[in-house]
Amino acid sequence: MKFTSTNQQSIADLKQAVTHSLAPDGGLYIPAEIPQLPAEFFDKISELSFAEIAFQVAKNFLQNSVDETVLRKICEETVNFPCPLIQISENTHVLELFHGPTLAFKDFGARFMSRLVQHFATQRITVLVATSGDTGSAVAHGFLGIPNTEVILLYPKGKVSPLQEKQLTTMGQNITALEIAGTFDDCQTMVKQAFADRELNEKYNLTSANSINIARLIPQTFYYFFAYQQLGKPAIFSVPSGNFGNITAGLLAAKMGLPTTQFIAAVNANDTFPRFQKTGHYEPKPSIQTISNAMDIGNPSNFARLQALHFTEKIWSKSFTDEQTNQTMCDWADKYVFDPHGAVGLLGLKAFRQQHPEHQNTPAVILETAHPAKFREVVEQAINHTIEIPASLAQYAKREKQAILLENNYNTFKEFLKNR
Ligand SMILES: *Cc1c(COP(=O)(O)O)cnc(C)c1O
Repeated sequence: MKFTSTNQQSIADLKQAVTHSLAPDGGLYIPAEIPQLPAEFFDKISELSFAEIAFQVAKNFLQNSVDETVLRKICEETVNFPCPLIQISENTHVLELFHGPTLAFKDFGARFMSRLVQHFATQRITVLVATSGDTGSAVAHGFLGIPNTEVILLYPKGKVSPLQEKQLTTMGQNITALEIAGTFDDCQTMVKQAFADRELNEKYNLTSANSINIARLIPQTFYYFFAYQQLGKPAIFSVPSGNFGNITAGLLAAKMGLPTTQFIAAVNANDTFPRFQKTGHYEPKPSIQTISNAMDIGNPSNFARLQALHFTEKIWSKSFTDEQTNQTMCDWADKYVFDPHGAVGLLGLKAFRQQHPEHQNTPAVILETAHPAKFREVVEQAINHTIEIPASLAQYAKREKQAILLENNYNTFKEFLKNR
């Protein structure tokens, strides 16, 4: 299995792509070719367990890059929690991706990636991760307590939910949380700068756990197959999107042969992608703070992949306001409690069906990307009653925040890394 760079200068095998994250030419790795799954896989899919589906998909995609026994174990450990498809109206379903240890879909990518990185690691590694709220804790959980591994996560000060912040800052052990006085895009830029910094790379074995790393995208294809298995027919997928890693994975799954009807990228006020579709110009903007904070991204890092793979034209996209998001959570509260991101996904589906009446009765799946309790304050205010906090989340609330506050400046960050 070979990977090429979106900047077209570099080529790598899986190990290089996973351990370096970014290509030497500054581009993102994409598969040189996307192998089709055999017809027998789809014929038998209803009989397979989630772990078996995950293994078959990963094996077919990665060809012989990872020993089969190792890959099977990684897949089994990645999807060791449920992923139910819940029907909320006649033709509309919600795929709950939040049953992993940190209660967001980021657990799929982080669990798979952390195991693959450990499999390939030959020396001490330092994992850098910028987080808009959910990635950091999922990645930290994936690497917690692993010898010879250190995780440094950067999150934007005051721009993650209180419970997300507790999850990010209370893991301890080999996890360090940096609170950056800036936006998520600033955090992401600093991480990218660190990868481009030869001095740091020579000194440390740096790797990224953001969705710039191809190892995050592979396991995110799995649950599109889980949805198909449970539904038994092709669907419209509505994906609440920020960095566009999740929807890139869905489009990869479709390329592998998964029958689908349409992909919708539903975004909040950070509308760089739908603006691009309207004007033909990609003009990133500083991120705007919203109640669906994990999607507050003005410069989606997977845009380069979507373009290189000719995926942009396959996506229908629209932006929604916080007011619409709040109204949606409120309207549905009696039937289903959406988190703010899933609510944006539902808005996307509604708007798409309005514009395409022929799809009014086409089956659709909204990806519910996080548990509503992670955004307790916002959700409770929108629906006007309290929600239950799962024990796995409540345990963090009791712990003391431990974070290092840094100004939004690359040199400060670099000095911190060098002087630890
Ligand atoms: C990360 C995240 C998203 C956005 O996913 P992308 O792959 O960055 O588009 C949406 N919802 C939640 C809850 C998230 O944590």
